[in-house]
Amino acid sequence: MNKPSLFQNPAPYAARPDEIPPPALMSYPPPPPPALMRSAGASRREALEQVQPIDIHNYDYVIVGCGFVGSVVARKMAEQNKKCLILERRRHIAGNMFDEVDENGILVQRYGVHLFHTGSEDVWDVVKDFGDWRVRDNPSRVDFSSDPLAGVLHHNHPFENSFIEPVVYPFNFSVIDTLYGGGGGAGASGVLYKDKAAELKEILLKEFPGRDRVTISELYASSDKDIIEFADILFELDFRPYTSKQWGVDPEQLDASVINRVPMLLNYGTELVKVKYQRVPKEGFAKVFERMLRHQNIDIALNTDALDHLKIDFDNNAALWDGKPLPQNATILWTGAIDELAGYKLGKLPYRSLAFDWRTEYTESYQPGLCVAYPNAKGYTRIVEYKKLLSQYAPGVTSIAVEYPLQAGKGMEPYYPILTCGNKKLYEKYRLMIDGIPQLALAGRLADYKYYDMDAAIERALEIARQFNKKDAAAV
Ligand SMILES: Cc1cc2nc3c(=O)[nH]c(=O)nc-3n(C[C@H](O)[C@H](O)[C@H](O)COP(=O)(O)OP(=O)(O)OC[C@H]3O[C@@H](n4cnc5c(N)ncnc54)[C@H](O)[C@@H]3O)c2cc1C
Repeated sequence: MNKPSLFQNPAPYAARPDEIPPPALMSYPPPPPPALMRSAGASRREALEQVQPIDIHNYDYVIVGCGFVGSVVARKMAEQNKKCLILERRRHIAGNMFDEVDENGILVQRYGVHLFHTGSEDVWDVVKDFGDWRVRDNPSRVDFSSDPLAGVLHHNHPFENSFIEPVVYPFNFSVIDTLYGGGGGAGASGVLYKDKAAELKEILLKEFPGRDRVTISELYASSDKDIIEFADILFELDFRPYTSKQWGVDPEQLDASVINRVPMLLNYGTELVKVKYQRVPKEGFAKVFERMLRHQNIDIALNTDALDHLKIDFDNNAALWDGKPLPQNATILWTGAIDELAGYKLGKLPYRSLAFDWRTEYTESYQPGLCVAYPNAKGYTRIVEYKKLLSQYAPGVTSIAVEYPLQAGKGMEPYYPILTCGNKKLYEKYRLMIDGIPQLALAGRLADYKYYDMDAAIERALEIARQFNKKDAAAV
């Protein structure tokens, strides 16, 4: 990405990576129930000795992790008459897509808001019959000038004493109207400029003919000074403070793909991605998974950490199950973290995690949309108000989740791989250590150390299922 000018001269209000703990103790997810049932006073070692072995002789595939990758592979192999066992250390199926009805009667997604989108018919075919998929009804928004939890923006912010109407996310022409003067009518005033919106929109359409969206890198790469200035304004108002909080590093240290995931639309559209299917399952994702996994050839063990059974013997390049070589016909699919599987031999791969502060508010509506980003608020990045997901009925009450990004540490879920150059190199070293171990396959967000949207995770699962089918066909 071309280096934005303000990188060299950061604005005084630029948020530094600041991580403050959420005000309440993180209420979700609760710590998983111990997979090792320790008797009082038992040491970890004694507890390990108490773990009941799991007999995998009856299974063709042992799948670690019950997210999209694990579940889709299990379903596909079960349909080929292969016996599958899924081990999941959480208390529930559905991985990060897990949702449930909370105490206010509102369907909430416990690991952050998930909206399904795909342009692939193959991917859509995998999920479409397992749910009543509805078109999402509520665009996200960005509120540059509020910190609803603190009441005011932090001191010295240029918008400390002014209010900017929340704008639609992904950014579209309405952000230009808001900042540069609404719609172009004579004297129309924006927050930063008066009546300059029409001119800027025209310049953008001329600079990017035939395009309906561009990345911030492309805006910066323009030779037009108005476009570069616009990129700078967006960058300082949103990208820099949001990214610093989200990732804990300056935006320039990240792979450009991370920043470029957020497009600027050159119209008034609201689609983050331009694909055919953009849906949410009416009864929730957990129900979709439940139906997908309901198959006579699939068994599931919840609250079960696979690492209590699976070990890698690096000296002999072999995977061991309960201390013994794997049964000849068994294949293991690992969808957990690659560094954890390797016993962190080369050190930890860094991840960002999230702490969710769940709150009940006794009001009809808390904020102007389902998901509002507050780039300039202290500590948290966004607030999700779940009753606005498919307009749920909950009079006088609403459930919100405030998202605090944190460095993943002990006991915290690793959510997002931090894709810096150094981390990608470390990942490649882990891959070299593990690839080639017979009867072991790795795939998924954590195993591949990649950010996958759900559709990409399903595509990855289909690729793995094809490889397994090929292997099985060759073995006959
Ligand atoms: C906050 C957030 C919001 C997101 N929003 C969207 C969105 O709107 N749209 C979209 O398309 N994508 C979204 N995603 C991405 C989506 O969550 C991923 O694509 C998806 O989770 C990938 O599936 P997976 O199977 O690779 O991983 P996961 O869903 O994480 O599944 C891996 C499973 O493995 C289990 N596991 C790990 N280690 C072990 C072990 N040792 N033993 C047993 N089990 C183990 C874990 O508990 C977990 O359940 C979002 C992600 C996050 C973090």
